[in-house]
Amino acid sequence: MSEIFLGASPEHIKKERAKARELRKSQWWKRKLNERVCYYCEQRFAPSELTMDHKVPLARGGFSTKANLVPSCKVCNTQKKHDLATEFQPTEESE
Ligand SMILES: [Zn+2]
Repeated sequence: MSEIFLGASPEHIKKERAKARELRKSQWWKRKLNERVCYYCEQRFAPSELTMDHKVPLARGGFSTKANLVPSCKVCNTQKKHDLATEFQPTEESE
């Protein structure tokens, strides 16, 4: 089985990143931040500690839609990136 989708085009990522930047300025996103809850660990944070995260990463063909964007604390965000980085290099040799 090699049906795993590994990467979106750079154009897709660029376009969706721009959309995310716009949404970050929106009232909708400000309301999200004011809920002060990380989507992943469900702990409470100051709005300044939350970052915008794509549930389905852009690199995997995700979109910057309201349904795909969630507030994430820095720890969860880093953790998630780390997991994905591992997934992205399945053939990488360790040590
Ligand atoms: Zn978190």
